[in-house]
Amino acid sequence: MRFRRAIFILALVELFGGGAVRSQTAFRLGTASAAPGEKATGYLEVPAGVDAGTNIPVVVVNGPRPGPVLALVSGAHGTEYASILALERVIAELDPAQLSGTVMVLPLVNIASFLQKVPHVNPVDAKSMNRFFPGKADGTQTERASYLITKEVVDRCNYLIDYHGGDLDESLRPYAYWGPTGRAEQDRISREMVLAFGLNHIIIWRERPTDPAATRYLDNTASVRGKPSIVVEAGHAGTSETDDIELLVTGTWSTMRKLKMLPGEPLFMENPVWLEKTVEVTSEQTGIFYPLVKRSGYVEAGMKLGYVTDYFGKTIYVARAPVAGIILHVCAVPSMKKGDNIANIGVVAAKAP
Ligand SMILES: [Zn+2]
Repeated sequence: MRFRRAIFILALVELFGGGAVRSQTAFRLGTASAAPGEKATGYLEVPAGVDAGTNIPVVVVNGPRPGPVLALVSGAHGTEYASILALERVIAELDPAQLSGTVMVLPLVNIASFLQKVPHVNPVDAKSMNRFFPGKADGTQTERASYLITKEVVDRCNYLIDYHGGDLDESLRPYAYWGPTGRAEQDRISREMVLAFGLNHIIIWRERPTDPAATRYLDNTASVRGKPSIVVEAGHAGTSETDDIELLVTGTWSTMRKLKMLPGEPLFMENPVWLEKTVEVTSEQTGIFYPLVKRSGYVEAGMKLGYVTDYFGKTIYVARAPVAGIILHVCAVPSMKKGDNIANIGVVAAKAP
């Protein structure tokens, strides 16, 4: 009993004391093993099952001083290129000698999507690699990969950042998600992380699964397990612009400074635009899409967002904004199927949380 209580208190110290209780020894993730002061590469090996196996590249950067374990994950959607290239830069530029604690980097979770240029899903099983957490050991490839990431990355980190962006068909402005859990101390830390990251539009993501066995999203899987975590998005429509990559890299360094994993002062976003919800607008018709708004534009309720024609040029659907807000992303390509996303609108919160 007393032993159990000690373990419990240690777990609390690990979470709320900044996690700085771990002594520095070699840190192993998949086939990568980094001694203190080293950077190592390897793979998380997802075994074959009902379909093919895959190897997810991982990098461990292990600081010479004790500190928390931070997980950085991108490329669940393998054609959200800016987020993938941002973590490639983090891998190249993160100097282990400067680091307190350990960083696990997964720069490209969904290699099949990246190589085959397939947006949104893993082409091996047609599942989104950010919807099936905590995963299943005997499921399809996406579920087995999610299971391994939950066990090896989520369960072993203290903090997590999940990187996304506009996919091949999404013209997206940068923003972050902050998902409060109702646990005050955890929410205080994740709020500090998202403000330190510095993206100036932040979605307050309140309605999320709370069942640890059905968390769906990676960051939510970490949140539900008590680890402060955020989602960051930048980049759009197949591009890898330096401005977008820079936002994600700068935000990473700043958040690590906030967590006292790197020396120096973090940025502080004094007045972000807090968004209380997002409203998705989908197409009621199949045809050719013509946008009438741009990412980051402001729309009033009722304004036209774009229209869909048939293949002969006749307008068959006009999409209008159901609410006033900011265009977080708008469809970037003419291909439009009934039910596909036309735009996501962020509704500005009445006050900061
Ligand atoms: Zn994504």
